Amino acid sequence: MRDSVFNCCVVPPHPPGEEEARGPRRTETMASSSAHFPNDKRFLIFFDFDETIVDETSDDMVVQAAPGQHLPGWLKDTYQPGRYNEYMQRVLAYLAEQGVTESDMRSVMEKIPSTPGMATLFQFLRARPPQDFEVVLLSDANSFFIESWLRRTGARQLFHRIFTNPATFNKDGRLVMRPFHSHDCLRCPDNMCKQVVVREYVARRTQERGRPYQRVFYVGDGANDFCPALALGPRDVVFPRRDFPMHRLITETHESMPGEFKAVTVPWASGEDVVQRLRKLVAE
Ligand SMILES: [Mg+2]
Ligand SMILES: [Zn+2]
Repeated sequence: MRDSVFNCCVVPPHPPGEEEARGPRRTETMASSSAHFPNDKRFLIFFDFDETIVDETSDDMVVQAAPGQHLPGWLKDTYQPGRYNEYMQRVLAYLAEQGVTESDMRSVMEKIPSTPGMATLFQFLRARPPQDFEVVLLSDANSFFIESWLRRTGARQLFHRIFTNPATFNKDGRLVMRPFHSHDCLRCPDNMCKQVVVREYVARRTQERGRPYQRVFYVGDGANDFCPALALGPRDVVFPRRDFPMHRLITETHESMPGEFKAVTVPWASGEDVVQRLRKLVAE
């Protein structure tokens, strides 16, 4: 079974239905278990989730589980710039009050379409020899939305690690999200700076492996994917979704501060564009 080469040795796949009980614990287990990772991979590839793996934003899609598939105006009016996560907690509280269940939300998540060519890209990664790719998901969504989608599509086993905001249902049936970490990056929301995650992960794994990765890749779309991409070096390759905020920020940086952005930039409209470039790089 080809999938098995991507199985994390410490976090075996769980039978369906088990994830809600194990969600947060798994996040913590995974955070401390990387010492047992296979250390023979040549490449490390990071994926964002919303608008990168899936062709929507999961936080927006969950509204489809609300009565009438929309949020009341008074609730939307409580949004304050820079306070997105507090707002999302209110949305989740509202959904619970309206009787929206875990299974309602899971059904909505399971129906989100993947972005064009993403299935081809996943297939490519799965079919590579086991020593090629360590695959990591890095998202400011939450563990429940992401795990629901990945398990439904069978893509869960591709990912060695998932870094996201832990989310679990409380006794009142409300999905409660906790911040992933705290940091002092001024560019990023309080609960997550993806650059901090990327830097720490690459540094720790490099030490555990006793050598650097041949290259690091990053596939994303959003403004919060720009911060981690800034940390990558000239041998690394970032794949910003074409004409999305990450792509615009990279282009602006090249114009305003030449030399500041170091990684090679390969914009994509389809996952097949990413495959095309990876094919060349793995053949080197
Ligand atoms: Mg995104
Ligand atoms: Zn940041």
